[in-house]
Order: sequence, then C-alpha cells, then structure tokens
Amino acid sequence: MSSPSRPVVILGAGVNGAALARELLLNGVPVVIVEANDICFGATAYSSRLIHGGLRYLEFGDLALVRESLAERSRLLRLAPQFVHPLRLHIPVAGRLGGWWGSASRMLGGVGGVQAGRGMWLVRTGLQLYDYYARDPQLPRHSILRVGQPGAPVVDAARYQWLCAYSDAQMRLPERFVQALLADARALAAAAGVEFRLVNYHRARLTGSRIEIFPTSAGDSVGEAAPFETIEPCTVVNATGAWVDLTLQELKVATAKLMAGTKGTHFITFHAGLRQALAGQSIYVEADDGRPMFVLPFGPAVLVGTTDIPHTGRPELALASDEELDYLVNGVNHVFPQVKLARTDLELHYCGVRPLPASTAATPAAVSRRHKLVEHVGAAVPLYSMVGGKLTTCRQLAEETTGTLLARLDLPRRADSQNRVVPGGQDYPQGEENLLNAQSQLAGEFGLSEQQVAAAWPLFGTRLKQVLAESSDPRGNNLDNTQLPVALARWIIEHEWVRTLDDLVERRLMLLYHRPLTAIGLRQLAELLHGAGMLAKDQIDVQIAATTERLRTHFGKSVL
Ligand SMILES: Cc1cc2nc3c(=O)[nH]c(=O)nc-3n(C[C@H](O)[C@H](O)[C@H](O)COP(=O)(O)OP(=O)(O)OC[C@H]3O[C@@H](n4cnc5c(N)ncnc54)[C@H](O)[C@@H]3O)c2cc1C
Repeated sequence: MSSPSRPVVILGAGVNGAALARELLLNGVPVVIVEANDICFGATAYSSRLIHGGLRYLEFGDLALVRESLAERSRLLRLAPQFVHPLRLHIPVAGRLGGWWGSASRMLGGVGGVQAGRGMWLVRTGLQLYDYYARDPQLPRHSILRVGQPGAPVVDAARYQWLCAYSDAQMRLPERFVQALLADARALAAAAGVEFRLVNYHRARLTGSRIEIFPTSAGDSVGEAAPFETIEPCTVVNATGAWVDLTLQELKVATAKLMAGTKGTHFITFHAGLRQALAGQSIYVEADDGRPMFVLPFGPAVLVGTTDIPHTGRPELALASDEELDYLVNGVNHVFPQVKLARTDLELHYCGVRPLPASTAATPAAVSRRHKLVEHVGAAVPLYSMVGGKLTTCRQLAEETTGTLLARLDLPRRADSQNRVVPGGQDYPQGEENLLNAQSQLAGEFGLSEQQVAAAWPLFGTRLKQVLAESSDPRGNNLDNTQLPVALARWIIEHEWVRTLDDLVERRLMLLYHRPLTAIGLRQLAELLHGAGMLAKDQIDVQIAATTERLRTHFGKSVL
C-alpha cells in the first residue's frame, strides 16, 4: 500500500507530538517533528507524573474522561511496564460525613465551593465508582484503613480517623517514555522506508503551503534569516501544548484564544522522616483551600505537588514562587506534623504550565482536562492544533488525531497502538524477584555490578541489553563499572537528539533528580559533547556556567 510522499509536520516534541508521530508512522505516514527547544521541554517534564483516571473528575461529572483515562492507565501498565508502575494512594479523612453538598453541586455543573473536607462515606462512594469504571485486575480495589494501622502512612491522628486507599499508577520518568516512543517511531519509519526526522532547537514559519524551518537562534526576526530548510507538508499539527496560541501567532494564523494555562509547582525532597511517614506509599489530600495535593514516592526521594494558578506569560518563564513552595511545605506539615519539613529540606523544585483549554469554569481546578483537535479552516495547508489532554491520555489523543488526518488524506487506517508494547517493555520480567534476576543476569553478561544495571534500567527497561551491546567495545571487551556511565552518555548523545548539556542533565540522563550533582560530573558530560563535535572547546566552560545557573534559578538545585 502506498504512503503519502509529503510528510506531516508536527510542531512540538512533548508527549503528544511524540505519540502522534509514532501513531502516524504505524500507518506509514512520513513525519517531520520540529521542536523549538528540546524534546520534553514543556509540561511533559513538569507534571505530577501520575497515570490516573482522575478521581476528582468524577465530582465534576466527567465520567467519560474518567473511563477513558482508566482504560489508558490499564493499557500503559501493560504496554509500558518499564515506565509505569502501580501506586497505592491514601486519602486521609476526618469524619464519616461531609462534602455531599459540594460534590453533588459540582457534579450537576455548579461551582460547589471550597470543601471543608470530604467525609469517609462520600470518599468511599467515589472510590467504588472508580473501581467500577477501572475493572482492572492488575490493581487492588479500594480499602478503608484506620489511621495508625501498621504499614499505612503515618498521618496526623489528631486530625484524621481513616485512610481511604485506592490504586492508580505513576510514570516516574515521562522524559524517558517519550524517548522510547520516538525510538519506536524511528524503527517504524526505517522498517517502512518512510521519512522520519526530528529537528530540535528549530522553529517553523508557514509561507503559503510550505513550512520554512529556522534555527531557534535566528531570534524573532526569522524573516531576515535564510531558512535552514523548506518542506512541503501534507498537513501541519500544532502540538505545542501551552504554547499553542503563541505558535499560531508565529505562523500568522488568526484564531480565537484556544488556551488558558495554569502553572503548577512541585518539589522533591530526600527528607528521611517524610519517607518514613509515607511508608513507601502515597497521599492524596485536600489542602485548606480545597486544592488536591499529592505526596508521592519518587525513587529514594518524595515528590510533592501541586499548585494551580492562572499563567498568562510565556510558558518557559513560569517559575516556582516562594508562596507556592511555602504552601506545599505547609500542606505536608498539615498531614504529617511530626515530620516538621522546612524549606531547607527541599532538594529541587520545578514548575510547568498545564495546556488547558480556554474556559469559563469558575476555578482553575474545574477546567476540563479533556483534549480536542481544532482545525484551522482557511490555512493554505491543512492545519490542526491539539488542545488540552493529559500525560495519561496521550496515546488516545494520538489515535484520534491520526484517524482525523488519515480521513483527510483519504488513507485507510492500517494499524493502531492499542496493543503495541513501548520499546523496553518487551519480555518484561513479572514481579520484583524476576526483575532482580533479569538485572543480575544482565550484569553477569556484561561484567557489570548489579547496582549499576539497576541504576540504568529505569532509562531503558529491557532495551538496556541492546544499548549495552551497542555501547561495548567493538573488540568484544566488556565495559567495566567505571566506564558504564560514560558509555551510556555517549550512546544517548549519538541516538537521542542531544544538543546541549541541559538536555543531557535534565531530560536524558535525568541527573537533575539525582543527589548530588557535581561540577566534575558536568565537566565530564560537556567534554563528551565536545568529543561528539557538538560543543566547541571554548564553549565548555560557558555551557557549564549556563547549566549551573539554570539549575539554580529554575530548579533551586545546587551543583557541588
Ligand atoms: C503541574 C502539572 C501537573 C500535571 N500532572 C499530570 C498528571 O499527573 N498526569 C497527567 O496525565 N497529566 C498531567 N499533566 C498534564 C500533562 O503534563 C500535559 O497535558 C502533557 O504533558 C502535555 O504534553 P504536550 O506534548 O501537549 O505539551 P508539552 O509537553 O508542553 O510539549 C510542547 C512542546 O512544544 C515545544 N514548542 C513550543 N513552541 C514551539 C514552536 N513554536 N515550534 C515548535 N515547538 C514548540 C515546547 O518546547 C515543548 O517541548 C500535568 C501538567 C502540569 C503542568
């Protein structure tokens, strides 16, 4: 069956752009992704990292969204087990009654007001409904625990009587999930012999039916610069998340305002007392202002979020404020007063802008998390914008968008990703014991320590074996443990569209979340970029200084 000769150009390489590229290539459609910054530069890297049905959407009566999200949650647990893990969350509640009026009012479309606290009966009803919609044998159903019960999170017994426990899932490293989607897209393109390219640190200008691509460094006056390349696309999809309106302005497409993003801040702490209080589990609690707050395990650390504040500036300029961080720290101490968390206990923070649709909802929390595809009628080339959505539903949005594009291009659907394993999830070991055995076997095969294999595993899943084989000495000598980090970084530089030191630290090796991050480590990585011809010798110190400064200002993270 023939493929279209002209590519779909996707603007934006967040989770939605990447999932769409993969879905189109599954159908033999050529793709060029143009990303103005780096892959996962936006909301995808700054979310709460939950793969969830959205328990609170039940209260807003959005049952279809809950059902769809729960179906995608089940699918991701099955198809991407290297990135998506079950999570047991606990809702602390004070009394049996309370919250009915606000919830009923919200469900019927009212504002509902700020909740003084939902009672156990109301929460249990919501969880029964959640379990009913999920019907997922992979996860345990909800249960009600008494505060103080052994093994449960140790919350304030003077304030709460029960913990309502339920199941959801967590994707700790969406940045690595997106790399796996892109690796799949690349493999599909190679197998079908169709075009797939990703051009990062570039942006596009629409000239008639052509797309001209410029390096981002050309500045605002791209009109003056010579285009890096010109493409005749069959369709353009604007998948730039919270930037959707700004991108349309750049493309000179007149449209009503589509987006009304809100910023959300998180922090990460290694506080031992908080980890102990969590007992390896998670808390979902309503803060005093009615906003939901999550306290989640994050490897050896704890992730806490989030806020929900209208943001009108450029998304890349959204930063965590002191007020937001104080609010989150106070929220933790409210639930776990014994922990006495302080601002000095925070390892880092991050802030992202939700790509929410423009809405007349009374509060940011009430804005729908549904997605939609908007067609810009009258453009010289078919042009669509992806609006809204969640990490959880990226595959579904990609499938729907592909359906629309195939119909527009008069092409049949050949395949979809409903049962397609995400690279690194193939032959995945079931259960903790089998996982440890697989890692131990891999360590033996490549002469590495089990700890080093375990540290690299979350980046690749079962793909790690192939990566290690490709990173090994061509003469057949195994890597030793000291060479492994360098070899992996080198492999990533060669295969994952890396351009800068920030890309490596924040979105490939995920060192941002490690403790400690050292100046020596940054220099080693900069030297590798230099060795790969990506960084001039005289730019090494400049880039290390810029990365150190960005880590400080954007993430509150110190380099030792
Ligand atoms: C605080 C917060 C918490 C969240 N929590 C969750 C959660 O727990 N679970 C969940 O499912 N979802 C969650 N979400 C939502 C989810 O993160 C987003 O819906 C999703 O990541 C959006 O992906 P995207 O690809 O559309 O956008 P982004 O990830 O923002 O990607 C857009 C990309 O477009 C690029 N770009 C910008 N302008 C241009 C241009 N002109 N040309 C080319 N490229 C451009 C950007 O650099 C960026 O890489 C949360 C979001 C936030 C902010």
